Amino acid sequence: MRYQNFSERTRRLHEAAQEGGWELHNAASPEYLPIWVATHPQPEYSRSRIAWAMMHGNEPTGFEALVQFIRRGAPAFNWTLVPMVNPTGIDAFSRLTVEGVDLNRCARQAGPSESDALKSILQTSRYELALNLHDQRSIFHPAGIYTPSSLSILAPAAMKGSVAVQPDRAVAWAGSLSLWMRERRPDWGYARFDESYYPTAFGEWVQELDIPTVTVETGVALGDASRAEVGQALFEVLCRTDAHLSPDEQGRAHYFNLPYNASDGCDFELKSGTQSSYWKLWEVVQDGGYVSGIERVESVEDLCPYQCIEVAHVDFNLLTQRPIWTTAELYATAASSLRDLAAVLPR
Ligand SMILES: [Zn+2]
Repeated sequence: MRYQNFSERTRRLHEAAQEGGWELHNAASPEYLPIWVATHPQPEYSRSRIAWAMMHGNEPTGFEALVQFIRRGAPAFNWTLVPMVNPTGIDAFSRLTVEGVDLNRCARQAGPSESDALKSILQTSRYELALNLHDQRSIFHPAGIYTPSSLSILAPAAMKGSVAVQPDRAVAWAGSLSLWMRERRPDWGYARFDESYYPTAFGEWVQELDIPTVTVETGVALGDASRAEVGQALFEVLCRTDAHLSPDEQGRAHYFNLPYNASDGCDFELKSGTQSSYWKLWEVVQDGGYVSGIERVESVEDLCPYQCIEVAHVDFNLLTQRPIWTTAELYATAASSLRDLAAVLPR
């Protein structure tokens, strides 16, 4: 389920913690919504690792994977997990906080309270690995490959003197995560983000604390617009990470063999004879309710559609009369091709 409000996610997190024997404490001051931190009292090793998710409130796949990981019970490593960094953004299903702040651009400033809390958690222990979990939009695909990027990774650069470098161990871990997911799902798209240095982003800042850091961006997969299968695969990759003292020896080479992410992807090309129109996934939360559908892409230059669907002429004409269709409206049409399309949209 793509949207749940903060209290529902909190309820699920607490339920999972109880089941898996994890402890939760609140890292936020009492005047703010809680920032829950999960730790396990009896990990196999004392070595510390950290993962956090939902700095952006409309990116829940990392949360889903972490909740499963928590429910599973005692981890091998001493993980600190922060599954919901942006409580007000979660309620609004928005990238930004309710004050309009992008928390992933606040690494080197005082405030707001959410990024301050994450920073102090990151500074309290000598973590040997940090995973910064995000979702990416479906416009991203591996350059040259017409399938969405289901997993894009980045070993963020760190400044050494005046030169930006990608630390070897972070690169090897990033490549390992991608490799392990690809072993499970070779049919999905895998890419890396360009290594441009963004000083205000958390990944770069944490890397400069000398913690090997990986930014993980999960996306959609064909037939998995809700990212449920991608979330399950991310959970399995987390389990595999927890089973390894060190990154896979192929990780580094795999990282540099990955294509870069290109950003001209488009979810659907709908065709009727020689006519074509291009559509992308669309979702919004209004009045506390989640609505999904498709939105027409107006500029069609050099788009890479992932799926081409042939529809009858009459259905094509109906569809192209409007720029946005909700899933419910598509279901309500008489056209079976449009109802089939509705069935694969996120919910
Ligand atoms: Zn994000």
